[in-house]
Amino acid sequence: MKVGPGGRILIGMLAGVGLGAVLGERVAAVQPLGDLFITLLILAAAPLVFFNLLAGLTSLRDLRTLGRLAGKTVGFFLTTEIVALSLGLGAMALLRPGVGLRLTETVTETETVSGAVGEAPSVGAVLLDMIPTNVVRAFAEGNVVQIVILALMLGIATMALGDGPRARLATLFEDLAGLFRRLVHMVLWVAPVGIGALVAVTVGRYGTDLIGPTARFLAGVWGAQIVIVTGYMLLLRFFSDYRPARFLRATGSLWATTAATTSSLASLSVGLETAGRLDLPRRVYSFVLPLGAQLNKDGTSVMLAAVLLFTAQAAGVTFSPADFVTILLLGMLLSHGTGGVPGGGFVVALIYVQALNLPIEVAAIVGGIYRLVDMSNTTVNIMGDMVGAALVARSEAGRA
Ligand code: ASP
Repeated sequence: MKVGPGGRILIGMLAGVGLGAVLGERVAAVQPLGDLFITLLILAAAPLVFFNLLAGLTSLRDLRTLGRLAGKTVGFFLTTEIVALSLGLGAMALLRPGVGLRLTETVTETETVSGAVGEAPSVGAVLLDMIPTNVVRAFAEGNVVQIVILALMLGIATMALGDGPRARLATLFEDLAGLFRRLVHMVLWVAPVGIGALVAVTVGRYGTDLIGPTARFLAGVWGAQIVIVTGYMLLLRFFSDYRPARFLRATGSLWATTAATTSSLASLSVGLETAGRLDLPRRVYSFVLPLGAQLNKDGTSVMLAAVLLFTAQAAGVTFSPADFVTILLLGMLLSHGTGGVPGGGFVVALIYVQALNLPIEVAAIVGGIYRLVDMSNTTVNIMGDMVGAALVARSEAGRA
């Protein structure tokens, strides 16, 4: 019997679970195999995003189409994020995992959080940071939003060129995009080993950690994220060309990648490849997915709101309705700052908690189980982008 790529990844995951369960913490020795997989995917991400987007943009006829795409995309991102933050708050209000957590105990139990955590950025700073000051640096730092902005500007410039150069560039971008897609195919050959290794390390490390308040915290976050995923499936069912079952079947290896790598950036390469296989229009997904990988963080937003309320409960702090407005706005702003890397959201959660004058030591407890939270955060983050791409694609159908 021939086993497809999804089947091979599943075998890798099951082997990882087995190894992790048997070897426990000793299985950490296979971590470099997982890291290699993540590195290879991130290596492909920046040029893949750049050339895919340029190839997609050169097929657009005018700026109006681009503006419409951007408006719909950002509208979807913002709406789902507010819902996600509210669900995170709601889940914690319901389960109250932080109530009764004794602060003095927690401070001694957790490693002390060292160094400066950083400050919440202003809206102006966030927007300005999206503009690359230097083309090479945008690539060197793998800053996806800056690469998207650069590709957008070049794409608009290409539209203004004469037919001859424009056609030549379109072929060039198309070929280069094809080259990097090929590279991702190659990297995916090692996915079963890489994903298996990452799963093994997670199982080995967290097998026995789940008790008490952290378990309730995790249940709250996962519960709220399941509600979001259900919402996505309903949106797909009614506003896209994909039935949820077909969508989930066709995207299985992507979710294995998001959960195992816990990196939106590493998963972006696989997401672009998956969107191509789903036959989503390139001009839509090459725009929505990279922007989403950095900006649309529904899973992380649930976690951020949950950490905040968990900490407030432990500290005995209650919020006024006006505080909640600040909490939502700041949460939206901060959720973009995870950088799409493993654990990125945890650093942001600490900044969030600090910005609202809550004790950072309590929030730091979540650090002990962060990988488990990050697995679902990253998966929901990327699922939001894929669903957004499918919805925008349907609404754009028939338009050039
Ligand atoms: N690692 C996640 C991501 O890449 C962010 C998070 O830590 O919540 O999207």
